[in-house]
Amino acid sequence: MSELPSLPTLKDLHALKPLQQPTYADADEVGDVVRRLRRLPPLVFAGECDELREKMAGAAAGRAFILQGGDCAETFAGVTAGNIQNKLRTLLAMALVLTYAAQVPVIKIGRMAGQFTKPRSSDTETRGEVTLPAYRGDAVNGFDFTPEARSHDPQRLLGVYNASSATLNLVRAFVNGGFADMRTMHSWNSDFVRSSPAGVRYEQLTAEIERALAFIEACGIESEATRRVDFYSSHEGLSLEYEHAMTRIDSRTHRPYNTSGHLIWIGERTRQLDGAHVELIRHVRNPVAVKLGPTTTADTALELADRIDPDGEAGRISFITRFGAGKIRDLLPDVVEKVTASGRHVTWVCDPMHGNTYEAAGGFKTRAFSDVIDEVNGFFDVHDELGTWPGGVHIELTGDDVTECVGGSHELAEADLASRYETLCDPRLNRNQSLELAFQVAERLVQ
Ligand code: PEP
Ligand code: MN
Repeated sequence: MSELPSLPTLKDLHALKPLQQPTYADADEVGDVVRRLRRLPPLVFAGECDELREKMAGAAAGRAFILQGGDCAETFAGVTAGNIQNKLRTLLAMALVLTYAAQVPVIKIGRMAGQFTKPRSSDTETRGEVTLPAYRGDAVNGFDFTPEARSHDPQRLLGVYNASSATLNLVRAFVNGGFADMRTMHSWNSDFVRSSPAGVRYEQLTAEIERALAFIEACGIESEATRRVDFYSSHEGLSLEYEHAMTRIDSRTHRPYNTSGHLIWIGERTRQLDGAHVELIRHVRNPVAVKLGPTTTADTALELADRIDPDGEAGRISFITRFGAGKIRDLLPDVVEKVTASGRHVTWVCDPMHGNTYEAAGGFKTRAFSDVIDEVNGFFDVHDELGTWPGGVHIELTGDDVTECVGGSHELAEADLASRYETLCDPRLNRNQSLELAFQVAERLVQ
């Protein structure tokens, strides 16, 4: 493996003029917070990151499929048992649908336990006569439209650690303690979904799987694999203070790992080749991902892969493409074709959310379920055509019955958005739309 120069310091990273960073008033206070974070225990272990990287190598090679999902922006107030449980059961139900269709392992990754920082297209937000700093996620400032809430507060980074730790603790208990046992798969479907077409389909599917499980048990084959699942955490590595403080040298391998989450991605706005975010993630051993928007050329993708993953290590780098439903069929083929021709085996993941956002008549930021499905289909079409493997999907979703994206079998209209619009950032698929999406993806995965 090629030797990388040692981990850059936080000062080195700031010298690269990172984009999308908070402006903190008191540098000493920031230093103090970073020192405190550095002493806190890791949230994930290096060995778990290695395990995920190996699984992701399977998703690059066509032997596994990735389901990554969760809120656009987690919030401190959203760290409740009910909220975490609802997201988890949505992801577990989706994963079950996908596994049954694809007949390959589905790698389950939450956009959870760390997704508290948001890049913004504008530094400020104006309401009427008042202009204040934009909301940048609970890691940086508060959502309330007041000068106090919107000021950038470094103490919030300790809040991110605590919120992530509490979330991960419950997730680990759920997935190992019986909640993810396949025998309870009916309970992953909730009441409001049960009567919908996707809910009915889910009940039929689980009945079928139950019969298969009963058969396997009757044959005397007991598998631990049906009683628990592996579940991983991921978030956008945007806050350099937090991500750097959580990067530790592993005692086994003597290599740096970002211990704030298993998989760290960098966003479309901070993926500059010589930028601070690329510089930090290229040094860590975690599996990492980069979001690619519609302006990405094949050369840019190749340069990113060369810089972040010079050894071409299986499972190390994923490209999460978010081109938009109208562009994916035209623009993705060249990128996939040239990256593949270079001999690289990257993992291709489809984010059908971020290229399909628009403002509805009432001022709400929304996405049409039909566009989301169209982009997913475009992704599968492109990979089918090129003979490459569509490695996974990345979805903004919630386990609740919110009204943030239009369409789906409940035919949510723009006029319905106001009734339960709760996201602090981008619109998420609700539980029913998420399950519907899983069935649509499943149809493309059936061999
Ligand atoms: C996001 O994932 O919420 C996001 C901001 O994505 P992107 O970097 O693709 O715009
Ligand atoms: Mn988002």
